[in-house]
Amino acid sequence: MLADYHLHTPLCHHATGEPLEYVAVARARGLAEIGFSDHSPMPGLEPFDDWRMARADLPRYVDMILAAREAAAPFPVRLGLECDFIPGQETWIEQVARMAPWDYLIGSVHYLAPGWDVDNPKWIGRFTASDTAVEEIWVGYWRAYERCVASGLFDFVAHPDLAKKFGFRPPGDLRRFYEPTVEAAARTGVAMEVSTAGLHKPVGELYPAPELLSMMHAATIPVVISSDAHAPGEVGRDFDHALAAVRAAGFTHTARFEGRRRRLEPLF
Ligand SMILES: [Zn+2]
Ligand SMILES: [Zn+2]
Repeated sequence: MLADYHLHTPLCHHATGEPLEYVAVARARGLAEIGFSDHSPMPGLEPFDDWRMARADLPRYVDMILAAREAAAPFPVRLGLECDFIPGQETWIEQVARMAPWDYLIGSVHYLAPGWDVDNPKWIGRFTASDTAVEEIWVGYWRAYERCVASGLFDFVAHPDLAKKFGFRPPGDLRRFYEPTVEAAARTGVAMEVSTAGLHKPVGELYPAPELLSMMHAATIPVVISSDAHAPGEVGRDFDHALAAVRAAGFTHTARFEGRRRRLEPLF
């Protein structure tokens, strides 16, 4: 029995469905529990972008998930948040961490610089702008991701190799990008996500790539399997595929979270 901890709500303006609809799909697909983790508000002037909840909506978000928990009981519904990690803005995450009774916080890197979100289709031309563009984007992405992992602010980190979303990867052995992140995760004890969302993007594979998943296992980093659902029908999507990959890499457990405490649940 698996959990799916990476689910969105309409408050981020690009997801559909009410929390109880996500619960219904989770139950039908045999999941043990779920957790919501909508895109967190960001500090400073709003709107920061057009794909996250406003700061004023944060209390509404918490109330909505806690109400869903009550209505779904005894089926466990956890309260999480997907926080965009931007180097230098760690204080904001520390503040957010005190704003609600979170079960877990997810760290994500989408932004390589203000206004430059690496997974946004509107910037796809940047990957082919020069011969070295992909290499430069990957260097920037992994530098930020390593800092996200090393920050110690999060319970797990999402879609590790998101920079491959559109299928652009530098040539050669990519482990040079993965190594600092894996070392940082082993040092800080943060768990890492295996996300089935990548299967439905141009790259057409799980985040992370098989080599990275093997490195995570070798470094004894705990994993979670997530869908990154933006609609109820996506809850637990392709978990059989992720489970096979995780088992093939040698994992025997996945992580569960409650009140920002982690425990490991056997896969068998
Ligand atoms: Zn989203
Ligand atoms: Zn997400």
